[in-house]
Amino acid sequence: MSNKRDYYEVLGVERNASEDEIKKAFRKLAFKYHPDRNKEPDAEEKFKEISEAYAILSDPQKKQQYDRFGHAGINGRYSAEDIFRGANFSDIFREMGLGDDIFSRIFGSMFGGGFGGFRTQRRTGPRKGRDLETRVEITLEQAAFGAQVELSLNRMETCTRCGGNGAEPGTNVVTCPRCNGAGQIQQRTQSLFGQMITVTTCPQCQGRGKVPEAKCTKCRGNGLEEKRLKVQVNVPAGVEDGVYLTLRGQGEAGPYGGPSGDLYVMVRVKPHKHLLRRGADVIYEAEVNFPQAALGTQIDVHTLKGLDKLNIPSGTQNGDILRMRGKGMPSRFGTGDQLVHITVTVPKKLSRKEKQLIQELEKELGKKKGIFG
Ligand SMILES: [Zn+2]
Ligand SMILES: [Zn+2]
Repeated sequence: MSNKRDYYEVLGVERNASEDEIKKAFRKLAFKYHPDRNKEPDAEEKFKEISEAYAILSDPQKKQQYDRFGHAGINGRYSAEDIFRGANFSDIFREMGLGDDIFSRIFGSMFGGGFGGFRTQRRTGPRKGRDLETRVEITLEQAAFGAQVELSLNRMETCTRCGGNGAEPGTNVVTCPRCNGAGQIQQRTQSLFGQMITVTTCPQCQGRGKVPEAKCTKCRGNGLEEKRLKVQVNVPAGVEDGVYLTLRGQGEAGPYGGPSGDLYVMVRVKPHKHLLRRGADVIYEAEVNFPQAALGTQIDVHTLKGLDKLNIPSGTQNGDILRMRGKGMPSRFGTGDQLVHITVTVPKKLSRKEKQLIQELEKELGKKKGIFG
């Protein structure tokens, strides 16, 4: 589902880079792409990419997961929030004299009401289903006016054969023999700091404390089955490229009756054939010839709402920018404008008649020049 770049490649470090080297590489790139310093249109996207890479590679557990399984080890296992949880960006940015509230500014919608407002995973009761991440491509017009987009995805749903309890119909669910119903198992692991005891979820019952006597033949006992289905996504008007929309409860079904996870949909706005987005404004390049610029005219221009007329005033100069108020993108600060950049073209080939006329014009302008300047 993702064609993400390799995290090591993103940070420009070797796969065996030390913690320190990873941090250094990130600081260097963050300094270059932090949206407070870099106003290039793709800086924010770059900044998100390096931040995600750093969040994963600076967290030993996530790094190990990534080293083993690649992006597949991260997607599905960690929600967008979980990826960024833990990495101490605020301190890094403050140290560097950069805005430390940057994530709430650029990831606002992704974290549904503030970067600090993390949901806490429930420790008891049925587990929540996994979060899913996908992306949707929309046109600039859809981004401007909002749209309802249908997307297809594969999602784990409650198994229809066993109703989600994992037991073959007609058989019972019994206490898990591996954890004796506790749902957790203690494990000893060797770490840099000596032996550590970690408590992990029982792999046999996945924390449920119970297992089916005979596993459901359809879901092999996990209570879930994969289905391909369609989801309607309401894309709000004015949406920015790269923003994540959060669809609560549209992720995978929770195992054994747990609540569903969430679905994160990344919005990609396709480049427009005629218009270029610059914040809330859109830019359109128009060409007029010299007589049109000199005398004034009316031309057809593409706008977000289709073709429109634009008056070119007499005496328009090459490089002038004409503003069509309110024809841009909606934003929190009101609707933007369409800016029409004018290029006055000079003909490369002239007919004899045209040449004659221009020569006459030249003479006329020459006289003026003689008098005025
Ligand atoms: Zn089943
Ligand atoms: Zn168990």
